[in-house]
Amino acid sequence: MGDPKGFIKIQRKEAGNRPVPERIYDYSEVEQTLNTEDRKLQASRCMDCGIPFCHWGCPVENIIPEWNDAVYKGEWKLAIDLMHATNNFPEFTGRICPAPCEHACVLNIEGSPVTIRENEAAIAEYAFAEGYIKPRPPKKRSGKTVAVIGSGPSGLAAADQLNKAGHLVTVFEKDDAVGGLLRYGIPDFKLSKVVIDRRVSILEQEGIIFKTGVEAGKDISAKELTDTFDAICLTVGAMKPRDLPVEGRNLKGVHFAMEFLTQQNKQTRGEIISPEERISAKGKNVLVIGGGDTGSDCVGTSIRQGAKRVMQIEILPKPPEKRDADNPWPYYGYTLKTSTSHQEGCERRWNLSTVKFHGDGQVEKAEVAGVEWTKNGFSRPEMKSVADSSEMIEADLVLLALGFVHPVQEGLLNDLNLAYTDRNNVKIGGNYQTSVPKVFAAGDTVLGASLVVRAIFSGRSAAKEISDYLASI
Ligand SMILES: Cc1cc2nc3c(=O)[nH]c(=O)nc-3n(C[C@H](O)[C@H](O)[C@H](O)COP(=O)(O)OP(=O)(O)OC[C@H]3O[C@@H](n4cnc5c(N)ncnc54)[C@H](O)[C@@H]3O)c2cc1C
Ligand code: SF4
Repeated sequence: MGDPKGFIKIQRKEAGNRPVPERIYDYSEVEQTLNTEDRKLQASRCMDCGIPFCHWGCPVENIIPEWNDAVYKGEWKLAIDLMHATNNFPEFTGRICPAPCEHACVLNIEGSPVTIRENEAAIAEYAFAEGYIKPRPPKKRSGKTVAVIGSGPSGLAAADQLNKAGHLVTVFEKDDAVGGLLRYGIPDFKLSKVVIDRRVSILEQEGIIFKTGVEAGKDISAKELTDTFDAICLTVGAMKPRDLPVEGRNLKGVHFAMEFLTQQNKQTRGEIISPEERISAKGKNVLVIGGGDTGSDCVGTSIRQGAKRVMQIEILPKPPEKRDADNPWPYYGYTLKTSTSHQEGCERRWNLSTVKFHGDGQVEKAEVAGVEWTKNGFSRPEMKSVADSSEMIEADLVLLALGFVHPVQEGLLNDLNLAYTDRNNVKIGGNYQTSVPKVFAAGDTVLGASLVVRAIFSGRSAAKEISDYLASI
């Protein structure tokens, strides 16, 4: 513990964001950084509690008090080594993790947790700048081969761990670049793609083979994969979007969020999208349906594209400003989240269901109606329509950000004849093995749509089981 009185002397200080009038004209990262001295002071606020609830709250089990102490003492090399012991990619989670650790931090009982996520990003950036993160290929090879299918955070974490264990890893990715939703879902203003490229370059130099533009199940068959490799790790995400099958869904101008976000991510890196294909918010009334992360990313992207007005609606009730009594510390606090995109100018409404889209070929309006939620004791809340509450919202671009239902089963997963859970995710046992011998799975493919930090943990855990399996054959 760096300074036993740090948490009394030093106030929480966030790095803050670039000013709204500046940032909405570009796609560069919104969040700023603190100088090194301020960062050390922030790390000194960590009390090294007897029971580190932050560690319990972190899905990759980061040993947070230890690296906070190292930062306070200026031992950045030790800090990144401690970080890498549990988290392959702190530069990703340090930027975009919702930080359940901070919700669980003891200082959050008073509402001012240690800036754990920012400290994590700072450690990663310092370590890259000082050259502490460099290629370290394994000294010995096992002679075993593994195919990782999908290059999102779970695939990258699994590949990294397996390669470090000495196995020869080939990552197959159907898109033209590595990263999964980090690259084609999450916008650059939250996570610059340079950050992904920097890490992937290290993984390549360490010996991982990346084959992009190769769709497993199509360009390479399930049989060829199982015949060629000693083990397979499926990390294909959970990409089947939830649809909204109401009248008018097929009107022009109604799109899945991912169609819109992927295009902008490609455009940001310099790709030219033809005017016929381009989904643009410029000068439009944009309606984002769905109140989660994906919806918020659509808001920020629409604003940067020059939308006339952006509204985001959600069927669920508005979350409380403060934790409810049945959602106490140290659990994740289900409270109202205002993202940087929301701050950029967006009207948000709750308790609205979408009834119908109106328009003549092109969407012009969305008809919505009020709903209310009732909760009886511990039962699931029930939704009821509010009578005579129908209204029209002007909308010439509608973005459906209603989440994802499960992995895409058509193609590779069905060809492998895998068993699925009752939620239609890939079913695995405690050893991350699917119902098919030598085929393992991790990340959103088994969890359903989740978080980057959970995907990393799942990929790491699967890699350990795959290594044990390879040692046994
Ligand atoms: C818009 C958006 C914003 C988000 N924001 C956040 C956030 O701020 N913080 C956070 O923690 N989480 C966020 N998430 C969730 C997070 O991105 C995912 O939980 C995480 O990326 C899942 O990782 P994964 O590796 O399991 O799958 P994915 O990232 O989905 O990667 C799967 C990869 O597999 C590839 N693939 C699929 N099928 C095949 C095949 N047959 N052959 C070859 N390749 C294949 C896909 O092309 C893809 O690259 C967000 C999600 C979205 C959609
Ligand atoms: S990965 Fe997320 S939960 Fe874990 S320490 Fe970092 S910010 Fe906190």
